[in-house]
Amino acid sequence: MKSALYSRFFILLPWVLIVVIIIDSDTRKPSSSSRLPSARHYSPYWNRRVGRSALMRPQPSDTSVGTWATHQEQVSIPGVQKMKNDTLPIIYAITPTYSRPVQKAELTRLANTFRQVAGLHWIVVEDSPQPTELVNRFLARAGVRATHLHVPTPRRYKRAGLPRATEQRNAGLTWLRQQYQTQLLHRQTTAPGSSPHLPNISGVVFFADDDNTYSLELFQEMRTTQKVSVWPVGLVGGRRYERPVVENGKVVGWYTGWRADRPFAIDMAGFAVSLQVILSSPKALFKRRGSQPGMQESDFLKQITKVDELEPKASNCTKVLVWHTRTEKVNLANEPKHPQDTIKIEV
Ligand code: UDP
Ligand code: MN
Repeated sequence: MKSALYSRFFILLPWVLIVVIIIDSDTRKPSSSSRLPSARHYSPYWNRRVGRSALMRPQPSDTSVGTWATHQEQVSIPGVQKMKNDTLPIIYAITPTYSRPVQKAELTRLANTFRQVAGLHWIVVEDSPQPTELVNRFLARAGVRATHLHVPTPRRYKRAGLPRATEQRNAGLTWLRQQYQTQLLHRQTTAPGSSPHLPNISGVVFFADDDNTYSLELFQEMRTTQKVSVWPVGLVGGRRYERPVVENGKVVGWYTGWRADRPFAIDMAGFAVSLQVILSSPKALFKRRGSQPGMQESDFLKQITKVDELEPKASNCTKVLVWHTRTEKVNLANEPKHPQDTIKIEV
């Protein structure tokens, strides 16, 4: 009886082992749905330039401007080389940001959106005298092609009621102009006779504050901007939304609850400008002098376009694809004055 049991056990044992080995090797193989995108796609190490030097002295060799086929493909003349699947204008998102408890959370939210947008180049401009370690480290791991600049807001302008981030947005514009100017000069010397009129430079510039909420559809809409495009913005101006009023494909007025007499009654998040326009109006900047609160957008747009030239997006300005969300001031009432934890943690 006992020997019969033993012999059955030894006959079954090899089969049991084979089944165990097959199951084990199967679970080690990643399933196609759970496989992570290749590291190449997520490689955070785009060519980035850091700090004031990036603002002051762009180099022709700076490869942080380029067109997009894969994230790595760089060309010497921005916007000129055809991508594998046709030319996709680069979207330059200029984001002013400043140090505060929620900064990393805001930037994380933005990066999670921007990472999903093809051909997006994030120009992050810190309101600080030096680039901070936090933003530096953050961008290195964000998986978004980015340029890191910084410029401090003069103390006299850091007051309630005054426009914010004027210097930072201008620094982003200046950087872009310097990049392309250097590239074009370089091209003219290496390929004399080519047109000096900025041909084939396709790109779109957009001002993306760090606390707003952006849908992916918004980037599809702005990508086709010819000169200046506009669309509604949610949760702004004391209303559920503001929007350009469109008739027969033209902007004819503004639906807004606040100062409807503004020439362009639109929030910073409600428009995009083609790179061609930015480059061909080299003096167009955000103004401090003479600018009243809430007039930054109008003062800037007046320099580059007219209301009847505006290109309405988002189904003739009937869809909200961006929200002027504002983050609540964080409660740190229980934060100790002096560190009590045994380790230092970046938040
Ligand atoms: N900002 C800045 N420095 C400041 C205040 C604000 O760089 O001292 C940035 C901020 O990070 C945001 C943009 O400027 O990207 C607009 O600021 P905020 O969101 O506070 O303005 P609002 O929502 O009132 O328009
Ligand atoms: Mn805001």
